[in-house]
Amino acid sequence: MTAPQSPTRVLVLNSGSSSLKYQLLDMRDSSRLAVGLVERIGEATSRLVHTPLEGGGERRERTGPIADHDAALKAVSEELTQDGLGLDSPALAAIGHRVVHGGLKFHAPTVITDEVIAEVERLVPVAPLHNPANITGIRTARALRPDLPQVAVFDTAFHTTMPEAAARYAIDVETADAHRIRRYGFHGTSHAYVSRATAALLGKDPSEVNVIVLHLGNGASASAVAGGRCVETSMGLTPLEGLVMGTRSGDIDPAVTFHLKRVAGMSTDEIDALLNKKSGLVGLCGDNDMREIRRRIDEGDERARLAFDIYVHRLKKYIGAYYAVLGRVDAVAFTAGVGENAAPVREAALAGLEEMGLVVDAGLNAARSDTARLISPEYARVAVAVVPTDEELEIARQTFELVTGDVKKGVPDSPTA
Ligand code: AMP
Repeated sequence: MTAPQSPTRVLVLNSGSSSLKYQLLDMRDSSRLAVGLVERIGEATSRLVHTPLEGGGERRERTGPIADHDAALKAVSEELTQDGLGLDSPALAAIGHRVVHGGLKFHAPTVITDEVIAEVERLVPVAPLHNPANITGIRTARALRPDLPQVAVFDTAFHTTMPEAAARYAIDVETADAHRIRRYGFHGTSHAYVSRATAALLGKDPSEVNVIVLHLGNGASASAVAGGRCVETSMGLTPLEGLVMGTRSGDIDPAVTFHLKRVAGMSTDEIDALLNKKSGLVGLCGDNDMREIRRRIDEGDERARLAFDIYVHRLKKYIGAYYAVLGRVDAVAFTAGVGENAAPVREAALAGLEEMGLVVDAGLNAARSDTARLISPEYARVAVAVVPTDEELEIARQTFELVTGDVKKGVPDSPTA
């Protein structure tokens, strides 16, 4: 008689206000069994796209109204059941939820209880766009599988190791504390994964290396990671601070907001929308897609050129600042949509930094690949890496380690796979 196998699958859920992204992974080999997305939840034109990745199933799509997250997860569950991967399977070990804001309380992945949900709810004022959607996803999944461990993996957790000198704003301490105003940082799951994978690429343990991680997607953030611990990151109380992003301004003199209110007569909500949705690359040149911006530059478009230059200038400032914060840098790692794909951004951001040991090999930089790789020449003092981020795998790994007690410190299984 064979002993029953212990469950090895983890479902990762990422709930947005009108979307639900999911991946089902098998943690024996970190393989994906199915991936999918429900979008436009609550509208007449909802769409579910489901792709089974094992067993030769075909990509399937359904359209038509999906009223809420509860209906969305039930539809996902039906799709998984059709592939023999149903959520009622004894092979499912846990559900891992991406939660954007964990404040100061959550330093690590956490098994979800009513108290955890209440605390995530208390953080809604500092994450009004994200935490309510994350809570909805959690409630829905708990209702469907109340017996299963559910784990929250927080975007802010990796940054809770920042020293107070980096985490505090220089404003009145009582006011800051009364309203929980401090720098939390975001994209932490990606920064954790990429800094670890970069160490693996160098053949080192994360504790041995100092890495600057540049997560350049539609949202963008930088982090300085010393021996595996985050010591500084560019996003702050909200994901608005720091680098120039697709639609967000990043750093700006706070007095600009008073000026917009007093002189331009804008309301707080209008200023919020301006800085979060109509700024960054889109505000500067009308496009937030780096491919389109590069195409326009090639055609001689001056606005696109200026937008690119402002984006790169800010990036270079952060690389210099984080170099100083770390003192010694072993690697700079580029990740996310722009970081992984836009060779001209990588080249321009590091141009002229040879004195700091930062050199990019033009041929390696131009070569297209979807695996983790070095793009610096062998003689360079500081490695430059391109590392595809994998937040779902990181969430699945942290979830699985927590529920099985299988905490493997060190390198990811196969960062180059
Ligand atoms: P993310 O938020 O990580 O999905 O990144 C999305 C952004 O990546 C898009 O808005 C584009 O600006 C950028 N991007 C994606 N693919 C490419 C590419 N092949 N070349 C340049 N930029 C890209």
